[in-house]
Amino acid sequence: MALLICKDVHKTYKVGDVEVPALRGVDLTMERGSFTMITGASGSGKSTLMHCIAGIDKPDLGEILIDGTDIHSLSEKESAVFRRRNIGLVYQSFHLLPTLSAEQNILLPLSLDGKECDKDYFDALINTLGIREQLTHFPAQMSGGEQQRCAIARALIAKPLLCLADEPTGNLDRRNTDEIMKLLRKMQSEFGQTIVMVTHDMRLTEEGERVVTFEDGSIIGDTKGSAV
Ligand code: ADP
Ligand code: MG
Repeated sequence: MALLICKDVHKTYKVGDVEVPALRGVDLTMERGSFTMITGASGSGKSTLMHCIAGIDKPDLGEILIDGTDIHSLSEKESAVFRRRNIGLVYQSFHLLPTLSAEQNILLPLSLDGKECDKDYFDALINTLGIREQLTHFPAQMSGGEQQRCAIARALIAKPLLCLADEPTGNLDRRNTDEIMKLLRKMQSEFGQTIVMVTHDMRLTEEGERVVTFEDGSIIGDTKGSAV
């Protein structure tokens, strides 16, 4: 069974009396270990879909299955636990907690769950991401690129089924953008991590990668690359 199945997902926001359709019937399937790019103009529904997959937002209609679990059939509490254990989120603005060190930020998903850290995996992650020297630093003492590498480590420390990265390079310069892209692809190839990355920057997609294109709440393109 595919890791992620979205079936006919609809979502309309209501702003006062105005209805804003954000998703108009999205069908999407992703296999374990795949790397998928989601592109499309601003306002086309990419973030709404990420929020629905993460269980942060609820579709009006349709179904989302992650590893066979219908996440929107869970209670709010169950959904929060499912998300913490199974979904790694990376945002444009890093979202690190300012009062925690890099290491404490990275370990947060485990400490919230009362879980032990797999030391070998932690070391492999830190080495691959190149942030060993930053572990004792606080977010304000790190560059944007370092903060995002730290946020990626936090997203992956609990070995989630799925990593969702919404415009993870949106606040970074070109050099850091290319570095983060390289690292995300490494997370897929070396750790078998399933990754969905949203970007409106077509420069970032690579030959052979799966690219799903959104327009106005619908999928208008899905090129299945060889690297899935
Ligand atoms: P993208 O991530 O592709 O830029 P979004 O999913 O953020 O697109 O937005 C899709 C549409 O839904 C847009 O028209 C946006 O204005 C609207 N939208 C998104 N979130 C909300 C919200 N919380 N309340 C009202 N409208 C929203
Ligand atoms: Mg967005």
